[in-house]
Amino acid sequence: MSAPSRGDRASRHFDPRTRVQFLPGVGPNRAVAFERLGLVSIEHLLRHYPRQWLDASRFVAVKDLKPGELLTVVGEVKHAAALRTRGGRGDFAVTVTDGTGTLSCYFFGQSFLARTLSPGVRVVVSGELDPIDRRMSNPMFEVIEGDLEQLLHAGRLVPVHALTKGVTARGMRTAVRHALDAVAEQVADPVPAEIAAARGLVPLAEALRAIHFPDSAAALETARTRLAFEELFQLQMVMELRRRVLAEQGRGLAIANGALASRVEASLPFALTADQKAAVADVAADLARPRPMHRLVIGDVGSGKTVVALLAAAHAIEAGHQVAFMAPTEVLARQHAASLARFATPAGIEVASLTGASTTSQRRLLASRLAAGEPLLVVGTHALLEEKVNLPTLALSIVDEQHRFGVKQRAVLAKKGVLPHVLVLTATPIPRTLQLAWFGDLDVSVIRARPVGRGRLVTRVTGEEKFPQVIDFMAQELAAGRQAFVVVPAIEEGGRLEVRAAESEVQRLRSHPLLARWNVGLLHGRMKPDEKLAVMQAFQKGEVHVLVATTVIEVGIDVPNATLMVVENAERFGLTQLHQLRGRVGRGEHRSVCVFVGGPMLTAGGRERLEVMRTTEDGFALAEADMKLRGPGEMWGTRQSGLPRLKVANLWRDEALLMQARESARVVVGEDAQLMRAEHAPLRAALLAQYAEALELALAG
Ligand code: ADP
Ligand code: MG
Repeated sequence: MSAPSRGDRASRHFDPRTRVQFLPGVGPNRAVAFERLGLVSIEHLLRHYPRQWLDASRFVAVKDLKPGELLTVVGEVKHAAALRTRGGRGDFAVTVTDGTGTLSCYFFGQSFLARTLSPGVRVVVSGELDPIDRRMSNPMFEVIEGDLEQLLHAGRLVPVHALTKGVTARGMRTAVRHALDAVAEQVADPVPAEIAAARGLVPLAEALRAIHFPDSAAALETARTRLAFEELFQLQMVMELRRRVLAEQGRGLAIANGALASRVEASLPFALTADQKAAVADVAADLARPRPMHRLVIGDVGSGKTVVALLAAAHAIEAGHQVAFMAPTEVLARQHAASLARFATPAGIEVASLTGASTTSQRRLLASRLAAGEPLLVVGTHALLEEKVNLPTLALSIVDEQHRFGVKQRAVLAKKGVLPHVLVLTATPIPRTLQLAWFGDLDVSVIRARPVGRGRLVTRVTGEEKFPQVIDFMAQELAAGRQAFVVVPAIEEGGRLEVRAAESEVQRLRSHPLLARWNVGLLHGRMKPDEKLAVMQAFQKGEVHVLVATTVIEVGIDVPNATLMVVENAERFGLTQLHQLRGRVGRGEHRSVCVFVGGPMLTAGGRERLEVMRTTEDGFALAEADMKLRGPGEMWGTRQSGLPRLKVANLWRDEALLMQARESARVVVGEDAQLMRAEHAPLRAALLAQYAEALELALAG
């Protein structure tokens, strides 16, 4: 429990890749616990940045202690007593005096501290004084051996690291301290020296020391900025390298823009919006180049992305190539096949679907036509390319809602010598900073405007107590010939609870006297694809009037006659999700209403969040609000992009840093695309260690 004395350790140099087990005080048993946190080498420990820092750096005299503030005193242990509670727990109490007064401290369940905090010992104690019993419970403390500058556990900005069973906060801090002493100077800096100098970054060793044990808030911020830059720079290196490899391979097929797409466009029963036209033009220009397209089309639900995809497909088909259109689920695949066929078939583009519903003989026939290279638009799930379907003339893959689709698939295809153009469609409004951070290797087209000619869409926020009025309104809409969605949150997606929540909602609606005339259907995550399809088709045909649903994605259904969306326990959804749900109505000419019903546990803050929904219709603004509310725990990138999450960088605060990192990454890739120069070796190694899969095509391992 003593502060490590640095003198005897400074001479022991470790390789940063040495296993943590060999650090003083760790050993094989605790090493297993560290490994549970992914901390295998000593360098990993250095990169295990604290989650937060407690400011226990305010020293006061005991007589000046005030309740409710984190304060630190220095004094001597006077009395110490191990106590046994009635429950058998061993507690420990001490008093500490500094000449101005006496402080009582109580440690629950830590009678073993008697060995450390015995009378006469000098200690630093940091904690909050309880206003009632005027003592500190479980304060942070540290026995003083050297000078106060060497404190780790109290009387400073105290780091709080993520822990696991078998590693205590104190044990972690001590291990990190030893790790810093042993290898901080030896850790290779992934940021090339020239860039570090140009950006005015502090040396890596200094930043590593200060991120764990900062001497001041300013030193912490400097360290954080330095490490955040490093992190963003590496991520941008990945983006640039990937962008580069696609550009350089030059193996894309240049597809001339023919007349077929224009004919399809002219035959549409509506005019494209300006944003749709711009996206169509972006895609056509990409296709015409010999470099494979990799473009993301972002547009709200109902903004009309499918038509953009269809026009792209028309160019490829006219040029004699095959096109694959992939959806996240079977049900959506079938729905896409149907809606594509509506405009494609009259123009002579054959849409073939390959789903679970296809019979063996249908499959066989289609497979042989595809193998013969017939130019078809084939629609299926994301498994389409992984299945043993042979698509010898595939020139364009269109992917719905899978942002990182194609990293692996493209690697597979590239080895076969083809790199199809890839068009990804998404209804997730990705704010610009996130686009750059996670999708900087892709080009982006945004469809913001909703097609004209659609009815007004009104949003209401209300509490559960208003449910009778909601039903009243529903009955009126149904009587006017319209339809309604009711969404209940998936408490446990695909699980029994979800089903029960949905079923009880169906019961409640079916037994409601005002709804007696109407059919209430049910759609939940546990149903078989066929059952789901049947319900959705019945809803589409107007045979089911109210559809109760749990899973958000399956509601990817286009029913312009649905004018009411009721979302229950709405506070359980993210704003972006609510926005997507809202997008299921307002698709036809009629006025639509979306009602967010707060659950019984709705807090004032939750209500305020829902009110944001009422006042803004801009999906991008909502996404930004959502991410600001959720703070820096940036899981988003991991989920949507399939890349590891950021540890220190916070894309909200660090936008300027991101732009600098991007610029620096461009310079490096421009000069040394394979990172073969000696000064780039640490960068290369660091990238391969973290992003091997994402870089499969870009960097030879
Ligand atoms: P999403 O972007 O959600 O995939 P869809 O492509 O399914 O949207 O389009 C939703 C509906 O709007 C479809 O019925 C489609 O035919 C129609 N649509 C698309 N573009 C327009 C437009 N410019 N004007 C009117 N309706 C349109
Ligand atoms: Mg769609």
